[in-house]
Amino acid sequence: MERKGTETGLAAMAASYEKFDPAAYLQYNYTPPRADFERKDSVVPWKLACLHRAFNEADVSGELLVDIGSGPTIYQVLSGCEVFSKVLLTDFLEVNRQELRHWLQDDGGCNLDWTPYLQHVCKLEGRRPSECALKAAKLRQVITDILPIDVHQSQPLAKDALPSGGADCLVSCFCLESVSPDLSAFTRALGNIGGLLRPGGHLLLIGALGESYYFGGPDVRIPVVPLTEAQVCESLKEKGYTLIRLEVYTLPEDMKVGVDDVTGVFFAKARKN
Ligand code: SAM
Repeated sequence: MERKGTETGLAAMAASYEKFDPAAYLQYNYTPPRADFERKDSVVPWKLACLHRAFNEADVSGELLVDIGSGPTIYQVLSGCEVFSKVLLTDFLEVNRQELRHWLQDDGGCNLDWTPYLQHVCKLEGRRPSECALKAAKLRQVITDILPIDVHQSQPLAKDALPSGGADCLVSCFCLESVSPDLSAFTRALGNIGGLLRPGGHLLLIGALGESYYFGGPDVRIPVVPLTEAQVCESLKEKGYTLIRLEVYTLPEDMKVGVDDVTGVFFAKARKN
């Protein structure tokens, strides 16, 4: 009975993604005010700073970085591409993988110009913003593939997608809570993706706090499991991660732009036991 309920919940979740619109999603979340590089309290610069710091800590190292549920975005690997020589992008939806391929192939088909993001991360790295073309080239060079993923499967990627030892590092932003019908599905998904990571490897997890829905397009209301900081910490512990650091951002009122009901964002750096 319980298993049937779980399957129904996951099927309903997958159905809510059928009309996901990458262009609208990018517009809602990755343009000002949420991505205002002139403002210190804008959420995108906050996320980029967390990722920059984590990827530049000596314990985060190795060869292979896997981004779980990339969506149509690349900001989450702009720092990691300087540390890892191979980066795999993944998403459940073909429309999102297509958006990523447009960027990778530089064919002019992208729905967002990532230049300000590249410039901002160059600045964080102490480089001139004009070096952003070098960073773009570096990222294109290290991305080895863009693969389908389902975090609700015990084996989320195709069988031979990763080396047998697993990835050295996972990054995942706003994926698990926005694809899980409830807290136990979120926690299970954390365990499933942990299977892709080598013991001692790191998980850099960014996600929404207190969010019950977001819009993935004009009429595409996607349910989200509302999380607290304590639940994130407990789920990580339950699935065999050691939490190294948790940072929290509280959304300023003018960043609540009617595309979701998020109240805050967490960044967790954790290590697989
Ligand atoms: N990582 C991006 C970001 O930071 O903006 C996108 C996050 S978006 C809120 C959630 C993503 O999860 C979407 O790209 C969606 O296609 C993907 N997704 C939906 N169902 C999934 C599943 N079962 N497994 C993995 N990813 C899924």
